[in-house]
Amino acid sequence: TAKRRHAGIAFAQETGGEPAHEQLSLIGDMRRALAAGEFTLAYQPKLALGSGRIVAVEALLRWQHPERGSIAPARFIPFAEQTGFIREITPWVLESAVRQAAAWHAAGLDIAVSANLSTLDLLDPHLGRRVRDLLEAHAVPARRLCLEITESALMDDPALAQAHLDELAGLGIKLSIDDYGVGQASLAYLKSLPVDELKLDRSFITAITESPRNAAIVESTIMLSHALGLTVVAEGVETPAELRWLREHGCDIAQGYGIGRPMTAAQFEHWLAEFALR
Ligand code: C2E
Ligand code: CA
Ligand code: CA
Ligand code: CA
Repeated sequence: TAKRRHAGIAFAQETGGEPAHEQLSLIGDMRRALAAGEFTLAYQPKLALGSGRIVAVEALLRWQHPERGSIAPARFIPFAEQTGFIREITPWVLESAVRQAAAWHAAGLDIAVSANLSTLDLLDPHLGRRVRDLLEAHAVPARRLCLEITESALMDDPALAQAHLDELAGLGIKLSIDDYGVGQASLAYLKSLPVDELKLDRSFITAITESPRNAAIVESTIMLSHALGLTVVAEGVETPAELRWLREHGCDIAQGYGIGRPMTAAQFEHWLAEFALR
């Protein structure tokens, strides 16, 4: 179908057009890697622009391969989604993220943890129960967990997505729309969903201070989002000028290399202690 062809094109781009045998060996390797503990999570800080405090982190998957070194998620998550292996990776991601949220909660740190979901995860009828069980098992307040979902994941089966989002929202966790602006979803549609947060795609933030068109899009999205009661996160914030612009235009939260790179949990704790002294 046209849809499949389209997915295939995106897939080839995201994987950097690796030769077929490379792709096959990566797929075979994922199962072993999960069992061998080669996957880890890196945590990237989210800065609240009003208070100047770090309020959350996004958990980003990393694969430390014994021979190939570090493999970026863009190179293996598309395979994991295509083969369905993401169904085994996501429970690991959620468990690790909730475990870390529990550790920070117990240490008295007021930091929420975001995890990323794929389309397949959102269609999983057991997702709600899995998340509820994890929060209970690790005694984590629901508001300490946020799940980031892309627009395209929602558009795949909007009715089912809505039902599952309602269930997740009912648990009290936060829900975030990731990569907002690159997909087809309208704010009017998103308004009908129980989401708390909207993450403006990096492509809008890049050159925000140079392109009046980007600036206009971001500015109006911030205003509309606030009218709908949504928190706005800018991702890919790299420069002080971008950060200043976002603060001046009422953006709620900023995330990007200009604030902090994705780090191990231990690195983040040190980074946070330094950040508080700035
Ligand atoms: P994303 O969810 O949009 O995550 C943001 C990506 O932008 C991350 O790349 C992050 O390292 C990168 N980034 C953050 N700040 C900046 C910046 O200032 N400049 C630039 N150029 N990049 C920045 P990463 O970690 O390589 O992840 C890529 C994508 O892989 C993620 O995009 C997400 O779609 C997916 N992904 C990562 N972890 C998971 C996971 O656990 N599960 C699933 N399903 N997908 C994941
Ligand atoms: Ca994300
Ligand atoms: Ca994103
Ligand atoms: Ca993205």
